[in-house]
This record gives sequence, structure tokens and C-alpha cells, in this order.
Amino acid sequence: MDLELSSEDQAFRDEVRDFLDAELTAEIRDTTRRTTAVWVDKPIVMEWHRKLYEKGWIGYFWPEEFGGTGWNATQQYIFLTESARAGAPPLIPMSLRYVGPVIFTFGDDWQKEYFLPKILSGEHYWCQGYSEPGAGSDLAALKCKAERDGDDYIINGTKIWTTNAHVADWIFCLVRTDNTGKKQQGITFIVIDMNTPGITVEPIITMDLDHDVNQVFFDNVRVPVKNRVGEEGAGWGYGKFLLEFERAGGSCARLKADLAHLKMIAAAQHRADKPLIEDAAFATEIAKVEIGITGLEITERQILSKAAAGEPPGSEGSILNAQAVQYNQRMTELAVEAMDHYALPFIPGRPFPGANEWYPGPDYAPPVMGQYLNRRATSIYGGSDEVQREIISKMLIGR
Ligand SMILES: Cc1cc2nc3c(=O)[nH]c(=O)nc-3n(C[C@H](O)[C@H](O)[C@H](O)COP(=O)(O)OP(=O)(O)OC[C@H]3O[C@@H](n4cnc5c(N)ncnc54)[C@H](O)[C@@H]3O)c2cc1C
Repeated sequence: MDLELSSEDQAFRDEVRDFLDAELTAEIRDTTRRTTAVWVDKPIVMEWHRKLYEKGWIGYFWPEEFGGTGWNATQQYIFLTESARAGAPPLIPMSLRYVGPVIFTFGDDWQKEYFLPKILSGEHYWCQGYSEPGAGSDLAALKCKAERDGDDYIINGTKIWTTNAHVADWIFCLVRTDNTGKKQQGITFIVIDMNTPGITVEPIITMDLDHDVNQVFFDNVRVPVKNRVGEEGAGWGYGKFLLEFERAGGSCARLKADLAHLKMIAAAQHRADKPLIEDAAFATEIAKVEIGITGLEITERQILSKAAAGEPPGSEGSILNAQAVQYNQRMTELAVEAMDHYALPFIPGRPFPGANEWYPGPDYAPPVMGQYLNRRATSIYGGSDEVQREIISKMLIGR
């Protein structure tokens, strides 16, 4: 794998930089940096999504025949790296990275024609309905039921931890259509309009006092059979295919941008009259993270090469995910340490102030504690750390 950029690649990088300079507004950049949740709020992130769509760059890893850019692995890498470096918000993956590839790989013609253009344009904002109470790591234990009634399925049950369900237009779900056989059998992949009667969304407030996740209830929800993707009962295979994309989503570009931000904080904060970054113990901790991220980048570029060759990410996605999560969490810990008392939640009644509220200390202080608390969940969602390590162990030593 050649890590040097050719002159064509350098020209492409300059084109990406020019676009980012021209289109990435201060409001989008500042909101992204101050957001404590993983995903920036819908109005801001979709404003960026639409700018990329208008430029023709939103399907950055999709095949050209479905409206993607058809970029090779290096171009994708450049695009992701430059976007993160410039402070662009991460694109919402539920549509572009998760359900999109399932539909263009396993969907029928109607589904491809109807959904794919709306995913690219941003008209449809999606959420992911996999987990249930009692079916998280053991996802195949899921019980949410879909019973056939003529040309419809009737859905009953619940999904939990559903990120952004409260603002989503569509949800893709794994549902049970058959209870006989092994638990991985009888699972079906179906997409559901969130405005369908019988769906209710209840918020779950997390410890950073944010509302990102929800519980979704389905009470006799009628869904047309044409919304089923692929074969009835074959959903486990499609669901696993999708999870490979989910686990491969931890872009090193963003880790590198976070590292640069952490270094900026450590250079600006002082201990005993010298910048914290000159403190040997603190600098060592930053160096450990930097070495890890540099190594991880090679794995990510292998995954991007596979994607550009039309292959799914494979189990390398779990390696990327497990390691990226570790560095991501560590950097938020170091940021709290660096901010010292400015990271303390102390405004009465509003322990973790929002982006535009007054806050003592430097302007990079307010999101630090919220980001630290929010990132505790990164080793749970998309498959917990323990489960990722089991996958890696099976891949490397066969058990
Ligand atoms: C912030 C957040 C956002 C999320 N967003 C979504 C979403 O949008 N859509 C969605 O469908 N789901 C979402 N999830 C759910 C997430 O995928 C599950 O929480 C995750 O799969 C773990 O399942 P669980 O919570 O049921 O925990 P459990 O599976 O009950 O696990 C509990 C503990 O047991 C450990 N454990 C379980 N099985 C094993 C094993 N075989 N070996 C070793 N240890 C094991 C786990 O590692 C964990 O520490 C989200 C979760 C969070 C926290």
C-alpha cells in the first residue's frame, strides 16, 4: 500500500481543501467542535450534508451507478482526512453507511430507485432499530414481531437505544417473522416510515443530560411487504453485513483532528507556569495515543482499499472499532485532566451547559465534561468492547 500522494492525489486534496474553505461556515465548524454528542444536531449536520450533495460528493464511498462518487481508496481517505481536519461534522451514518449499502446490495429495483436518491439528497433521515431490551450483544434473541397480513406485515414490539429516532423519517429494523429453528433464522430486515400510525418514541436521557437515544414502541404497525429488504427470514445475514460497515466507521481522520485539538488545549493550559504539553508525564500520555492512532491508520486504509474494490469491510472493522474507541475515550479523559477545575460541572441546575451559554474559563472548556461522559458509550454501541474482542479473537486464532 503506497502511503505517498501522487500529483493527481495532491491536486484532488487541493480541490477538497478549496471546497472546505469556501463552504464550511464558522457556524457549522463551531457547532461541531462544541457538540458533546457523537452526532451533531440535525439542522446543522444536514446543512453540511446538502452542501456535499450539491457538490456531488455525498456518496463518497458508494458506487457510481447508485449516485456515488466512485472515488478510489486514496481519494476517500483524503476526503475524510481533510473534512475532519477542517472541522466538518461527521456525516450521519445510519443512512449513508448503514442502510444505503444494504439497499444497493440486497434491495429490489423499487427500493433502489425510491430510497437511494433520498438518502443522498438528505430528504430521508434514518435511525437504526436493532437493539431491544434483552437483545443487545445477543442480538439474535430479538422478539419484535412481524406477522404477515395480505400485502402487509403487522409489527408489534419495541426497540431500544435508538439514536435519533425522535428526529428520524425512517427506521430500518430487524424483526422476527418466524420462531422456529435457530434464533438467527426467522429474522427479517424491514424499513418503516416513522410516521406510520402505532409508532411511539420515548426519550432516554443519558448521563451527559442529552437526548440522543430513545425507546421506540410498535403497536400494530402496518408496513407494506414491499418494504422488506431481501428474502423473508434472511435478515440476519443483511444485518451482519451492515454491522461490518458500522464497526468500520471509526475514522482515524477524526481521531487525528481530536488529537490536534487536545494538543492545542494542552499547549494553552499551564501547570506550574509552564504549558501542560511540556509536562513529561502528560506529554507521554498524549504520545501513547498518537502512536496508537498512527498504527490504526494502516488498518483503516486497508478497509478503505477493500471498500473501493467493492468488498465489505470484513472483520478488520472490529479491530478498527475496538482500538478507535480506546483512543477516543482516552483523549476525552486527558482533556478533562487538562482543563482541571474548568471541567467541573458547577452551574446550579445546569451542570453541563449547552454550546451558547456563558461559562467561565476558555471557550474550549464547556464541552469537555459532556464529551467525556458521552464517549463512555462508545465502548457499548455498535457492539460492546468485549464482543468486538471476541470477534477479533475468532478471526485471528479461530476461537
Ligand atoms: C449511546 C448508545 C446509542 C445506541 N444506539 C443504538 C441504535 O441507534 N440502534 C440500535 O439498534 N442500538 C443502539 N445502541 C444499543 C447497543 O448496540 C447495545 O447497547 C449494545 O449492543 C450492548 O447491548 P446491551 O445494552 O443489551 O448490553 P448487554 O448485551 O446486556 O451487555 C451487558 C454487558 O455484558 C457484556 N457481554 C455481553 N455478551 C458478552 C459476551 N458474549 N462476552 C463477553 N461479554 C459480554 C457486554 O460487553 C456488556 O459489558 C446504542 C447504545 C448506546 C449506549
